[in-house]
Amino acid sequence: ENVENTPAEDLRDEYQRLADDVRRYRYAYYQQDEPLISDAEFDELYRRLEEIEALHPELVSNDSPTQEVGGEVSAAFAAVEHLSRMYSLEDVFSLEELTAWVEKTFASTQNLGLAAPRWLTELKIDGLAVNLLYRDGKLVRAATRGDGTTGEDITHNVLTIKEIPRELSGTGHPAEVEIRGEVFIPSKAFEEYNEVLIAQGKAPLANPRNAAAGSLRQKDPAETAKRPLSMYVHGIGRHEGLDLTAQSDFYALLKDWGLPTSPYFRVLETLDDVLAFIAEYGEKRHELIHEIDGIVVKVDQLDEQRQLGHTSRVPRWAVAYKYPPEEVHTKLLDIQVDV
Ligand code: NAD
Repeated sequence: ENVENTPAEDLRDEYQRLADDVRRYRYAYYQQDEPLISDAEFDELYRRLEEIEALHPELVSNDSPTQEVGGEVSAAFAAVEHLSRMYSLEDVFSLEELTAWVEKTFASTQNLGLAAPRWLTELKIDGLAVNLLYRDGKLVRAATRGDGTTGEDITHNVLTIKEIPRELSGTGHPAEVEIRGEVFIPSKAFEEYNEVLIAQGKAPLANPRNAAAGSLRQKDPAETAKRPLSMYVHGIGRHEGLDLTAQSDFYALLKDWGLPTSPYFRVLETLDDVLAFIAEYGEKRHELIHEIDGIVVKVDQLDEQRQLGHTSRVPRWAVAYKYPPEEVHTKLLDIQVDV
């Protein structure tokens, strides 16, 4: 049904149902690590919700799922406040939308009198976001993203991941720094782990993303330690006393400190370069160490990031391009989406 030609009254019921469904699916995905539908199906419902809200803002409630970073804190873990907020990412599903985003962001920087942005282009790792807090070079806390303000304390579980240093190497560690990244299970390790489970007569894990999330959110760290978890860092939170001009410089510093940075990112100058990167990894996506569900494009300059700012849910200086789904499941809900 075309949203544009439908009066708000007729959409109210559909809107409520959609919002409830999105909340329910998010709960299963984030709290139970057991999705009820595929990501592509979820994205479609979420898009429809956004589409209705864009045309009928009067329907938007304060607790709409579009106003929040998905994921609450489970009572099984201690709640911890992040020192600076963690955000989600704005999604785009076509190269046209990606192009429009790049052009819009370029124009915003020009209106603000800033230099042309450089595009820090990365793989979107299909894993679980984790916030590491280092004080004077020592890992003191690790937490899930949660609702972006408050996460779950999973320090003991994160300490079982061998790539994550308990103490940073190198020099120049600030009194406090938050380092964000993605915990994932490498594709090969995932297959091997499932073979072992099957040989033991146990049920295999459904997919690497949910397996990583489920593994990290175990009550018993000894159980987490058995899972082949790995991590790449891709973000900064609080970082007082660190004088940096670009996020890519931060990655170089993190590498010096012994943190696992991705070998795949590039700093690109033009939209064409970004589109070529997307095409390249669209071909290579199954030859990589980990699964990806898209490409993340970020403005590299930190001053520009600050000036562009963020909404309640996402930064305005980054976007996630999602590759078309490779396997589309049957639709659960009978809705049509005009794309
Ligand atoms: P998201 O996963 O689309 O994007 C935000 C996250 O991307 C960040 O939190 C970060 O952890 C991660 N990320 C990976 N690589 C990154 C990189 N290089 N740089 C920066 N960030 C990177 O957003 P979301 O809000 O966490 O969740 C939405 C996703 O979860 C969608 O893909 C959706 O399909 C899926 N989901 C599925 C269901 C379901 O029922 N199947 C339910 C809820 C959400």
